Amino acid sequence: MSAPDMDELCPRCGAIDRPTLLAGTGPHACKAVCGHCGRFLKWVSLISPSERVARKAKARLQAMQKHPVSQKQLDLLRDMGDSLSAPETMAEASKLIDRLLTNKNAPSYKKHR
Ligand SMILES: [Zn+2]
Repeated sequence: MSAPDMDELCPRCGAIDRPTLLAGTGPHACKAVCGHCGRFLKWVSLISPSERVARKAKARLQAMQKHPVSQKQLDLLRDMGDSLSAPETMAEASKLIDRLLTNKNAPSYKKHR
């Protein structure tokens, strides 16, 4: 993330200045607003970028484990030459697709393009 102590350009008044930090709402810790006109500039997170990526990946996986495999994923797996696997969740299907994409011995997926 860009640090809140960096100058930001305000698209409303054109000021280039350090934004003012205010308390955020909902999931956002802070928000940066223009110190000149008060326009909202961006949300500011207090967690580090790497921590945010890790949290996002974890949340994504957890969400996919709760959902049944989608028809699109099944279609993709079949198109990629995997008609034997029967993943039950989006997470399982995603793992299979990732494996097929990185496996050079898998049938080429370029045939449809
Ligand atoms: Zn402004």
